[in-house]
Amino acid sequence: MKTLKIGIIDLVCKGPNNTLWAQTMHANLASIMPQVVATWCEQEGCSVTLVSYTGKEDLTKALPDGVDLVFISAFTQAAQFAYALSNFFHSRKAVTVLGGPHARCYPDDAVQYFDYVLGFTTRNIISEILNNCSRQQPVGQFLSAAKQTIELSSVEERWKFIEPTLKKAPLLKFVPMLGSVGCPYTCPFCIDSTVPYQSMNFDLIKTDLQFLLTKFKSPWIAWHDPNFGVRFGEYMNAISEAAPPGSFRFVAESSLSILTEDHLKIFRQNGFKALLPGVESWYELGNKSRASNITGEEKVNRISEHVNMILRYIPYVQTNFVLGLDSDSGADPFELTKRFIDRSPGAFPGYSLLTAFGEAAPLNLEYQKSGRVIPFPFHFLDNHSAMNIKPRNYEWIDFYNKVINLTSYSFSARALYRRFKATPERTPKWMNLMRAISSEGYGRLRFYQKLRQKLTEDKAMRRFFNGESNEIPSFYTSIIKKDLGIWWDWLPKSALHHDVNAFLQKNHACT
Ligand code: SF4
Repeated sequence: MKTLKIGIIDLVCKGPNNTLWAQTMHANLASIMPQVVATWCEQEGCSVTLVSYTGKEDLTKALPDGVDLVFISAFTQAAQFAYALSNFFHSRKAVTVLGGPHARCYPDDAVQYFDYVLGFTTRNIISEILNNCSRQQPVGQFLSAAKQTIELSSVEERWKFIEPTLKKAPLLKFVPMLGSVGCPYTCPFCIDSTVPYQSMNFDLIKTDLQFLLTKFKSPWIAWHDPNFGVRFGEYMNAISEAAPPGSFRFVAESSLSILTEDHLKIFRQNGFKALLPGVESWYELGNKSRASNITGEEKVNRISEHVNMILRYIPYVQTNFVLGLDSDSGADPFELTKRFIDRSPGAFPGYSLLTAFGEAAPLNLEYQKSGRVIPFPFHFLDNHSAMNIKPRNYEWIDFYNKVINLTSYSFSARALYRRFKATPERTPKWMNLMRAISSEGYGRLRFYQKLRQKLTEDKAMRRFFNGESNEIPSFYTSIIKKDLGIWWDWLPKSALHHDVNAFLQKNHACT
């Protein structure tokens, strides 16, 4: 095999971005798999340049001249950016490969723009590509292993790619680690609900942690597990055997059912500083929150008490909610979330609008069968810029009125003050404030207000939202054009559209 010159681009964001948030936090959002693929390619004898794209790097110059193969990792919100980049690198005679969540959610769309599109990626699949590095257009190949691999490179092997990325983070520096893949729960909207749970080797986790102590006095570690702590005892033993208490600081996403008081005492002792449990809804999805039998007001009371108890042990808590679920109707779900904010003022509320990502989750088939998926361009599928499912129980303007009202309430001066007071430590206090006044709080509020105004005034917008027209309103195309900057000219114009029912058609073809 010829020695290949390989570029790997991890798209942390969906276009050039110079905001304060991007400058301070984007480097902390780097993914693990691009780093793993980089180490595998080096071990196969290739020369590798990895760029974690945080919004400010010049991607026309970041990879070496004459690059043979370019891997791009993207979430769906960065898909159009990724398609433009693939087109650019094709013009430089490189072969292109797409990995990451977008490749798993929309493989049939992505093969139109990339030579290879990767589902579950293993070392064998990467070797196959290196051995057959050739253009596959007009339609690329989709390659996927039968299951997700847990044979990943160690932190020490990835360090040469982790270190330059962390140098871009001026304040907090999070090292990404993975202790497990998949999830034993089956929340029907979730990409991990159909991926069998597997944990990594706990001895390797211990070795990774000990390695990090040679690089930082008290490293910050972000666990990328979909649901951290399922095999709680073994995890905590690995951490406590790696070094004495207080040696590490951890951030993890975990379900409320794992966050019992007994577990929280151990979480605190082992250095957990931030936890992100999912509440999702007051009316469904209770199986992972230890509140499967209760709904509504009673659930608010129970979850508030639980979250307040978590805050007694862990200084930073973000509670995640999904807005627009089919079980929601009327004002109640929004009003109940406001009650929750009153009762648990220290928790940062993270809101997602219901989104169906292609073939990510079983529930998406139902949405496609009932013709409810709206073809918003991928650029807006970031869980908050667009809800691509027509709500079952709301008209759009009414829905956005309620979202605006809840967002204003959550980031009002009163709520910010109460959150600041109820958050126990200094860094989490300022983190909450920064998130509220940046694009996440105030920025989203401004966007929703503009959107509601457009929906009121613009008939073409309403027709698109109601599924009566597939023509993408200029409101959206002009945002993509502005956000992509110089990359807009490289975006194939067909890439603004995608088939929202591809998963359904594929299923029919298989049956
Ligand atoms: S508990 Fe979390 S990770 Fe697991 S299936 Fe549900 S939403 Fe997905």
